[in-house]
Amino acid sequence: MTLDPRQLGTGGLFAAAQPDLASHEAAYGKRPSGWSRNALLAELDASGLTGRGGAGFPAWRKLAATSAGRAVVIANGAEGEPVSRKDAALLRQAPHLVLDGLVTVGEAIGASTLFLYATADSLPFVAQALAERRDRPKVKLVEAPEAFISGEASAVVNALETGIALPRDKPLRLGKSGYEGRPTLLHNVETLAHLALVARFGADWFRSAGTADDPGTRLYSLSGDVPTEWVVEAPGGATIREVLRLGGVDASSLAAVLVGGFHGAWVPAEGFDLPLTGRGLARYGATPGAGVLMALARGRCGLEASAGIVRYLAESSARQCGPCMFGLPAMASVVERIAAGERTPWLASEAERLAGLVTGRGACRHPDGSARFVHSTLAVFRDEVQTHLSGMCTAHRGWTH
Ligand code: SF4
Repeated sequence: MTLDPRQLGTGGLFAAAQPDLASHEAAYGKRPSGWSRNALLAELDASGLTGRGGAGFPAWRKLAATSAGRAVVIANGAEGEPVSRKDAALLRQAPHLVLDGLVTVGEAIGASTLFLYATADSLPFVAQALAERRDRPKVKLVEAPEAFISGEASAVVNALETGIALPRDKPLRLGKSGYEGRPTLLHNVETLAHLALVARFGADWFRSAGTADDPGTRLYSLSGDVPTEWVVEAPGGATIREVLRLGGVDASSLAAVLVGGFHGAWVPAEGFDLPLTGRGLARYGATPGAGVLMALARGRCGLEASAGIVRYLAESSARQCGPCMFGLPAMASVVERIAAGERTPWLASEAERLAGLVTGRGACRHPDGSARFVHSTLAVFRDEVQTHLSGMCTAHRGWTH
């Protein structure tokens, strides 16, 4: 089963020279078929592959939690994050790798339906790839709206069933009862691409990159104050500085990096040499999540940047749950008042209070993620918050209100 990828010249997820099938097979060889559910489960467990869509759940556990019988597999390529580009890059440049992963896991669990859910920009590349495949997999392509919460698991299921990508007001146990009440396995497209490589080359090969704590490679979308927005592939456990360097970014020009996206956390410059893992960044409450790194240049106001993000998060509420619908706009207003330099000493504690109030009060994780971002902003830019509350801003060279 296990091939040597070095003989085939693979370097990672973007090893194929072109997105077409011939280039894909020249880089990786043909897709191995015939994986049983138990064998794939064991290989994924040994590989340590975790989800690349945000939550970082072990891939084998999701597979183990999916009941047999009329199962559905969904490849989720809907990057709701406005600063995430990696899934679109993968679907554009390596669509066959994602399809290989989808078909392989679908075969292993005897799935009767396969979906690929992604934005309108990405679907033509997948359709083109499907048209040239000899195995002719029956994959239904579904367009995801460009909205922050469109990739949330229950929103994906809703979108496939009803065409409306809104989260459910009740949590779903997808593995038992997801799409149309059927066992449903939902994976991010990058996770499926890695799964395709684990199925080809084995768990030991996967672990030959990265660290014991974070095996394999990861895609990162670099954005913000960078010369060029890039998607880079880095070994697991790489530091922020190393990933920035791969993207041609000089870390010394930055004051902080937002790690994990708008539901993520800021990491200041003194944390740039820590590994990009949940354990490595625990002191900042950051995890790589879906691989978003948004840079903030030295001399820019972190509170101003954060206020814009909190407002965006408030406007992204699906307006189904009261605490989310009313709490997030209230929280955004308070953060905006701090950023504007309003001399009201209790604003910081009010922002903390509101963040605490919305946490755990929504049907989906949107309020929790938004609150986490606010807590992180107040902690990482603590000194700047105090400066603002006295009507000054270091970045704006001491303006006063
Ligand atoms: S918590 Fe917010 S985003 Fe999530 S379902 Fe409720 S209203 Fe919608």
